Amino acid sequence: MERIFGRPIVTQEEMRARIRELGKQITTDYAGKDFVLVGVLKGAYAFYADLARAIRIPMRVDFLMVTSNKSRLKTSGKVKIVTELTEDIKGKDVLLVEDIVDSGLTAQYLVKTLARKKPRSIKVCTLLSKPEGRSIDIVIDYVGFKIPNKYVVGYGLDYQQKYRNLPYLAAVDMEEEQV
Ligand code: 5GP
Repeated sequence: MERIFGRPIVTQEEMRARIRELGKQITTDYAGKDFVLVGVLKGAYAFYADLARAIRIPMRVDFLMVTSNKSRLKTSGKVKIVTELTEDIKGKDVLLVEDIVDSGLTAQYLVKTLARKKPRSIKVCTLLSKPEGRSIDIVIDYVGFKIPNKYVVGYGLDYQQKYRNLPYLAAVDMEEEQV
């Protein structure tokens, strides 16, 4: 895998340190609240597992599984929820955990959809943000890393459903992959 993806653009050490900081911040911000951490599968699975263990307050865990219509490497924003929440989030403080926010359409759609269930609050935490890709105005409350407009894999993120298990984040080498 190293041959295809070259050097990490975010290393395991950088990832660990940043997630520890995010965990501390979220611990402070959600102390005393009825807190539900909602992971967006599959992409957020690795980040979610590490983030949840960096948060030091009682909380519920829950997940949504979504599929998006990716035409080549861009999402069309047409997201489909294929597995629903199991927790009742009404009146609770929800933090949605995403792998990456690019155009912002997926996050916007999920926030709108979950808001119908009447949580007390709903915020978004993403491991990665590509500000150059944004096509709508959306507030992302917690961002792990801002990255340039490159297609990245690893640490939960895929290329054609593979490479999610790469333990660091790397940009796809388009020449070798011939995308
Ligand atoms: P958005 O709706 O914000 O444009 O895109 C969010 C979704 O697009 C992510 O959840 C992810 O599935 C996909 N995506 C956007 N950029 C990348 C990327 O660089 N790598 C991977 N693996 N997925 C991406």
